[in-house]
Amino acid sequence: MQTRLADFIRDTPAGREAEDILRKCVHCGFCTATCPTYQVLGDDLDSPRGRIYLMKRALEGAPVSGKTRLHLDRCLTCRGCESPCPSGVRYGRLVDIGRAVVEERAPRAPLDRLKRALLAFALPRRALFAFFLGVGRVLRPLLPGSLKGKVPEKAAAPGEWPAPRHARKMLLLAGCVQPALAPGINAAAARVLDRAGISLLEAPGAGCCGALRFHLNYQDAGRGDMRALIDAWWPMVERGEVEAIVATASGCGVTVKDYAHLLAHDEKYRDKAARVSALAKDLCEVLPLEALPAGAARGRVAFQSPCSLQHGQQIRGMVEARLARAGFELALVRDAHLCCGSAGTYSLLHPPIAGELRARKLEALREGAPDCIATANIGCLSHLQGGAGVPVLHWIELLDRMPA
Ligand code: SF4
Ligand code: SF4
Repeated sequence: MQTRLADFIRDTPAGREAEDILRKCVHCGFCTATCPTYQVLGDDLDSPRGRIYLMKRALEGAPVSGKTRLHLDRCLTCRGCESPCPSGVRYGRLVDIGRAVVEERAPRAPLDRLKRALLAFALPRRALFAFFLGVGRVLRPLLPGSLKGKVPEKAAAPGEWPAPRHARKMLLLAGCVQPALAPGINAAAARVLDRAGISLLEAPGAGCCGALRFHLNYQDAGRGDMRALIDAWWPMVERGEVEAIVATASGCGVTVKDYAHLLAHDEKYRDKAARVSALAKDLCEVLPLEALPAGAARGRVAFQSPCSLQHGQQIRGMVEARLARAGFELALVRDAHLCCGSAGTYSLLHPPIAGELRARKLEALREGAPDCIATANIGCLSHLQGGAGVPVLHWIELLDRMPA
């Protein structure tokens, strides 16, 4: 696509990257078929092709309005449009640049700003989020149905975390909201990896990966979270104590894998960020298939592959292979490439679209009559579990429950 960026951005790193991406788009529209918001809303400006056009105009200096911002806000950043693109357009990177520019030139209404500021303040702070969640649980019986589904009932105790005993050690990305919402996931990962000969460690003071604030378009604050997390991990990484950094939430894992890019222009952190990104792995990448005992029939599972796993990290089939090896029967899932509508804070900011995508996803997941639904990301798990009709859990919890 012919592009002539405006002076304010042309000779900046972001401008050069955006121009390179924009030039690759041939406007063929193959991506529209896989875009969840286009499927729900049917407006070309809510498709990747339409949004790319809006961002091109904004970066070329054309006037932008709240309407431009709304079309970008409605994007789930699921990156489902990257997988089918024949030109290799890195839409996810372009939308980060486009959102920063549009936000600055078309400021939000005060109430919208307040809502986003509260989310950006509360969600990455583990203790504060746990406090609000506790209050929400107490008030749950009084909440309207739509809000009730957002406050899960108290989860079971996480169980024992094995003491480090193996030569092979990995560092866990503990996350910010996951320990409060589903404390059993990380402990289950530690137990399953322990049985596979790997000790899983936590770093003191490690917090949010930065994805939440970065995708709320508090990009500087998000990068601040990334630097703080690198600082917390660095002593263990530098001493070579750990062979990988493991994420049990694919939405966090995809962000850490991208630190090298996101901090590439930070002289102080770019080398550390590159090393951390190189060590980052999703849990399914480090759990050896052969370490799992081949199991007898253990029930029927519908696996919901999060966008951050299949599109963001381009990992497909690895979780399914581990579940199948352990004896679980995998139900076929229609339209498995489509987002469930969770997308970080998206389900809180755009409830009608997120609710419609959730209903479609649950219908597709239940078609194969599964005993349970498994996923690989806490955001998807929380979004899907209210009203699923069957248990929704992280896949590692299924493997943890198997007899050793
Ligand atoms: S599929 Fe790729 S090249 Fe075609 S319109 Fe979409 S982003 Fe552009
Ligand atoms: S990231 Fe997802 S919602 Fe956004 S344009 Fe691409 S496919 Fe559509």
